[in-house]
Amino acid sequence: MKIDAERASANRQARDERKRAHLHAVMDRYTARFRALAGADALAVAREAHAALDALLERDRANSAAEGTIRCRKGCSHCCHGPVEIWPHEAALLVAEARAAGIPIDPGRLERQAAQSVDTWRAQPAGDTGCAFLGADGACRVYESRPNACRRLLVTSEPALCDTANGALERVERWYSWEAEMMEVAAQDMFGADLMPRLVLAELAGK
Ligand code: SF4
Repeated sequence: MKIDAERASANRQARDERKRAHLHAVMDRYTARFRALAGADALAVAREAHAALDALLERDRANSAAEGTIRCRKGCSHCCHGPVEIWPHEAALLVAEARAAGIPIDPGRLERQAAQSVDTWRAQPAGDTGCAFLGADGACRVYESRPNACRRLLVTSEPALCDTANGALERVERWYSWEAEMMEVAAQDMFGADLMPRLVLAELAGK
């Protein structure tokens, strides 16, 4: 019995080590991929990272039993009223896209939002919580160029639960691609992340 227990423990440890090594290898691969992009055109970097994430999500969703249960739909914009962390290349793409499409950005709201943190975001007046790129119809006005934080936020629970004012955020259920999460961690580590309004304001100011 003692030998069986020791063998089971050794097998468990070996499995854990293999898992850790695999996760490290995935992180290293994405870190190297983003490092190779350092110095490249910011818009091209953002577009490449967005395309890579989309492909990964598509691959993992195709293999997931939750594929048909994702409830996110155009016009359901609850998640666009929460704090969103992006990286500077994504801010550059958002501003470029808005300028090219003639989409106005409210600088006053950005300034007020920029004074918030993730923890204080929901204490703002309701009119200030919405993303600067959210349209009056509840649709994203820069959808094709939306940040990876928005692309990987996929919900399987009742959309009303996501409402920042009247929902029950603790009951929201998300579908995750763990590899997509790791890809985003690698991008944020490499490029530096901050709340969207701060980086968009910096980009508008040409910093
Ligand atoms: S960029 Fe678009 S999808 Fe992302 S929070 Fe803003 S409005 Fe929503």
